[in-house]
Amino acid sequence: MPVELPDDYDPRPTIESLTWRYAVSLPRHPHSYSHVRTCPDREAFMRMVQWLNATGERRTFAGHAYKYRSLEGYTYWVSSAPSGLMLNRRRTEDVTEPIDCPRCGSSLAAASGCDNCRWTPGADPVPAQGTLW
Ligand SMILES: [Zn+2]
Repeated sequence: MPVELPDDYDPRPTIESLTWRYAVSLPRHPHSYSHVRTCPDREAFMRMVQWLNATGERRTFAGHAYKYRSLEGYTYWVSSAPSGLMLNRRRTEDVTEPIDCPRCGSSLAAASGCDNCRWTPGADPVPAQGTLW
């Protein structure tokens, strides 16, 4: 159920109140996440989800579309698991401009490689966009 997003919405108090856990299962894509179930204020959580959906920049990562939004050194996005929604973040300087995977063509949001076909930088001759790597 959508929650109201005020015009002057500031996600920072929510960001500070959330518990961010490092995603150990994805070492090639270092980021932290906060699961809706661990958030004591579900309405605040959903408001931040809405903020990302409303204002984020759409990018495709490993075949899925996400909305990305950067704030004070971190880039945030929403993902969903069978167990519920998650807010994710990573250091903005780790995020490169999206390029297409030189092997399978899917859009890469990370310089560390392709989740779709397992291409990794260095596995193939440096692609034309190689300055990013
Ligand atoms: Zn690929």
